[in-house]
Amino acid sequence: MLDKKWETCVKCGLCRSVCPVFREEKKEQYVARGHITLIEEFLKGNIDFSTKKAHEYLGKCLLCTTCVEACPNKAETDLAMILARIKHTQEYNVPFYKRILSLVMKNRKVMDFAAKTGRLMHNILFVQHLNTSRKGMSPRIGLGLIERKRLLLPIADKTFLEQYPSHIEGKNGRIAVFPGCGVNYAYREIGDAFIRICKKLNIEILIPKEQACCGGPLYFSGLIDTPVELAKKNIDLFNALNIDFVIVIEPTCASTTKFEYERLFSYLQDKEYLEKAKEFSKLIISSEKYLHDYTPLKEMLKKTKIKEKTITYHDPCHLGRAQKVKQEPRALLNAIDGVNFVEMKDADTCCGNAGSFSVDFRETSVKIALRKAESIIETNADTVVTGCCGCIMQIAEALHIKGRDDIKVKHTLEIIDEALK
Ligand code: SF4
Ligand code: SF4
Repeated sequence: MLDKKWETCVKCGLCRSVCPVFREEKKEQYVARGHITLIEEFLKGNIDFSTKKAHEYLGKCLLCTTCVEACPNKAETDLAMILARIKHTQEYNVPFYKRILSLVMKNRKVMDFAAKTGRLMHNILFVQHLNTSRKGMSPRIGLGLIERKRLLLPIADKTFLEQYPSHIEGKNGRIAVFPGCGVNYAYREIGDAFIRICKKLNIEILIPKEQACCGGPLYFSGLIDTPVELAKKNIDLFNALNIDFVIVIEPTCASTTKFEYERLFSYLQDKEYLEKAKEFSKLIISSEKYLHDYTPLKEMLKKTKIKEKTITYHDPCHLGRAQKVKQEPRALLNAIDGVNFVEMKDADTCCGNAGSFSVDFRETSVKIALRKAESIIETNADTVVTGCCGCIMQIAEALHIKGRDDIKVKHTLEIIDEALK
């Protein structure tokens, strides 16, 4: 069974000074200390969480783990929140759209079909492209919880998994690629950049077509049946390969596969898959850390030059805080001649996207994103670079609201790819 690692909380309130949600809401129930107090009572069965208010208490947390990092007692609020959400979905109704998502994510063919249908619909009927610095799609009419004109991820013409063969020859190392759904279905160009970089480095690449969604968006919402199935599938598939690493491009998928699968099987007391998840975890690495630590890319980049750019960098929560990959993307970017790097204020503060948080609590999500946009604008950078599809979309929309579509929003891999060209 999982240890209750939030019980170390001494209610000191330090988390109030770092929580992005508390900064906007100023209410005790939306900060780590308040969450822990409420959740402890809920898990003991002392609070009825069937009301709409309860949905807010459990939902209004980005799971950004800023509080965990800042907490002097390392109280794991995120774990308390995930367990409470699991208990909540087991006892009460799950929102309809999450049940549909759960059915879709179970099966790659259904996901592919949904993406193709979405693409057809967005070309014909429902959505138009906004004039944002990063392409996306936007509903012409409100679609339930998704309001008119908000920026959504685009849908790629062809998925990453369809685009590439399952094996690309190379001599320097042997890796498998897990793009994550954001790269597979939306910003495939980021995956394209990664493949081109690896080809330049002559790395052997496996792209197993049977890989499943990591299940993260469902798991973080408290739905675990489908994530358990998906986790077992991915663990069995990748553990059987003779590879150095599994490169997970999307940070949330990396964090899910590297850390949350272990928590999941620990919670379920499934010893067999807990051991397998630990083995799998050792293989998982982000594209930035892999390229920085295990290839000569940085040295190669020192001989490259790009058109002069002033770049600032936003740390995605699941890359910077969860995987502790902060210095590596900065070092790679700084190696390129032509990059004028400038740090923004609060670079590692969450952008406010957090998947379904941005759907369920749109107003708060936008307020947090606008603070991020202000930090970017203050730097006078012409390009903001980050490492996550969700952050790219959120930042592009916030800059659009601020009237700054001139600031480009790029992925680290895209800048490296540009330099190598
Ligand atoms: S979670 Fe940590 S920082 Fe927040 S009140 Fe508890 S002990 Fe203090
Ligand atoms: S995980 Fe993030 S949003 Fe949730 S309580 Fe902690 S700091 Fe606030």
